[in-house]
Amino acid sequence: MANIVPIIEADDIATEVTRLGALISRDYAGKDLLLVSVLKGSVVFLADIMRAITIPYTIDFMAVSSYGNEKSSSGAVKINLDLKQSIEGRHVLIIEDIVDSGITLGYLMGLLAARHPASLEVCALLNKKTRNEIVIKPKYEGFDLPDAFVVGYGLDYAENYRGLPYIGDLRD
Ligand code: 5GP
Repeated sequence: MANIVPIIEADDIATEVTRLGALISRDYAGKDLLLVSVLKGSVVFLADIMRAITIPYTIDFMAVSSYGNEKSSSGAVKINLDLKQSIEGRHVLIIEDIVDSGITLGYLMGLLAARHPASLEVCALLNKKTRNEIVIKPKYEGFDLPDAFVVGYGLDYAENYRGLPYIGDLRD
């Protein structure tokens, strides 16, 4: 059994998700809001933040690969699943689980910006700021993380541990 040390407890995640949902509800009131979830890691965060947002919105999914089963970025980003709809003139908010180097998000933002949304912002639950190579300032940000590899709350290591209710540091 792997050694996983909890670093953000479920209660603290819930409090933060509620806070982020309230901010989003305030800022996007009266706007045509589309939440774009990046599979698979962000699905647990998406499911929770959907219930914390009190204004109307729609959702869609994208899938990109960057990591494989390794614990460090390959630097390459590939689109495996694209949006099913046009985002032109819509207010797009990317729901992202974690920003590490920022390469994935930087690539996605460039791709989506070229489709002319009315606005394009990011809501990231976790950000490893000391590891950012591309500077992306998420409009909504949960926790700043140390340089650790974390699992749980949707995040995996080789597809395992996504169902943990807390975020834990995976130690070898
Ligand atoms: P970036 O392109 O910012 O380096 O990496 C973004 C993606 O890498 C995230 O969406 C996530 O899938 C994966 N990733 C980065 N750091 C971690 C981590 O600590 N744990 C897990 N499970 N995935 C991570």
